Amino acid sequence: MKWVSHIAIAAAVAAPFSPAAMPVAALGATAPDWLEWVEEGVLHRRVRHRTHTHYLAVWLLVALFGFLVWDFRGWIAWFGVGACTHWFADALTIQGVPLGWWSDRRVHLFGGRVRTGSGAEFVIAAVCVSIAALVVWQSGPHGFLPFFYNWGEFYGRGLIDGLEWRSHRFNYL
Ligand SMILES: [Zn+2]
Repeated sequence: MKWVSHIAIAAAVAAPFSPAAMPVAALGATAPDWLEWVEEGVLHRRVRHRTHTHYLAVWLLVALFGFLVWDFRGWIAWFGVGACTHWFADALTIQGVPLGWWSDRRVHLFGGRVRTGSGAEFVIAAVCVSIAALVVWQSGPHGFLPFFYNWGEFYGRGLIDGLEWRSHRFNYL
């Protein structure tokens, strides 16, 4: 898929949860592609498109590391989440994407019939953005998201104590 679609989809995923994470998610959403250039530029070796920078398993591990082990302002987690959205978007296309290092087989979602740069690609991106806009709009400026309890904010407002925040901060649903 094109970068504009990758960025739009990642930003749409991040927006309802953490608007501040949108730039990092967008950076992560393009990482599988720009990392190929970095690798070619720095290591001077040809990288086959959509190979090891496009492993879903690797990006899931990056995201999980950020969420569960250690993170800096949520940047690692959202970078990983952004890259995962890249994988799912690419998986809709004819070329497909690999799951991980153990197999070269390309995975296709929903038949993988989307052509990169086609109208269908932009419709998918637009649908994601619309859903995100709806969710953010529904929640209002200081509103309440029915399916996302903002525990961090509750803590900040003194509604819950630290222990409660610690035990709930990963409960996004
Ligand atoms: Zn890609």
